[in-house]
Amino acid sequence: MKALRKMKAAYGCMELVDIPEPEVTRGHVKIKVEYCGICGSDMKFYHWNMRPGLNIPIPVTFGHEYSGTVVEVGEGVEGIAVGERVVSETPEIYCGKCEQCRTGNILLCSHKRSIGYQTDGAMADYVTIRQELVHKIPENVSFKEAALCEPAAVAAHAVYDKTTVQPGDTTVIFGPGTIGLLVLQMVKAAGSRAILVGMSKDEKRLAVGKALGADEILLSDEADVPAKIKELTRGRGADAAFECSGAGAVLDQAIVSLKKMGELVIVSLFKNGEIPINTFNTLVNNEIRISGSYGQRYRGWEKVLQMMSNGQLNAEAVETDVFSLTDWERGFAKAENGEGIKILLKP
Ligand SMILES: [Zn+2]
Ligand SMILES: [Zn+2]
Repeated sequence: MKALRKMKAAYGCMELVDIPEPEVTRGHVKIKVEYCGICGSDMKFYHWNMRPGLNIPIPVTFGHEYSGTVVEVGEGVEGIAVGERVVSETPEIYCGKCEQCRTGNILLCSHKRSIGYQTDGAMADYVTIRQELVHKIPENVSFKEAALCEPAAVAAHAVYDKTTVQPGDTTVIFGPGTIGLLVLQMVKAAGSRAILVGMSKDEKRLAVGKALGADEILLSDEADVPAKIKELTRGRGADAAFECSGAGAVLDQAIVSLKKMGELVIVSLFKNGEIPINTFNTLVNNEIRISGSYGQRYRGWEKVLQMMSNGQLNAEAVETDVFSLTDWERGFAKAENGEGIKILLKP
């Protein structure tokens, strides 16, 4: 089968190669991949500038944001049948015994190894995955929409598990990329007013945000964002803010844009040494709560599939391009240039 693999531990070195189809082992299912999204983390693996300590075996097949059809089930698999349309969570290996595993936070397990960089992923004709990680796609949700489940579940975790956003609140989202636009839809679904912050170069993405229900759009290179947010909230400040841009400078803006006891959730990762915060005293004086939000949880996957089915989550609005897997270089180049939003590959 075709598989897009990292062939050497260095910049680039990706190739579409022919490898044997993966064998189904006990408790696993084999899935024929329909679509697989290109994630920001895939770009980091491409550049080979991801955070240290990830233990990436080489060669390895990319891809963790996918949808597909079950084509084979291993011994001991129950409740999943050949022909079912599915998506899956990503931690193919985890210990099952530690505190994080036992409390449903398996992505935080120290033994976790995820598909797409630590085990073979879904930028291939087939992928195998343990049965516990599989979620079924509702009938009225397409494969293309469902391929957005992983980032959507990331957004759901940030909004619904890490904050108390509710109707009447004002929420600020920094960064109009895939995650930011999904967070936007989550806060709108929760009844909050949403202020989306980007830069003038993000014009196209901000227009998508507007179409998805952003109540206000602010340009951080043109406006004094915290002052504008204070104005829009009659001096009170926002209830919650989400950092989805990866730009360290946003943290200060977010902290001073919040109301007293407001909540800041950080979803992006920053380059080391690029996290200047000059507003820690404001953070203390105003009792701002900061939390990191990493990955997704079981409940988020079911939630986003249901939201797609209900029409509360518009996946296709952020899925701007589909390239054939054989044309992966064009897809990666487009992701690299920041053109388009979520770019999908189709094996
Ligand atoms: Zn991802
Ligand atoms: Zn564990």
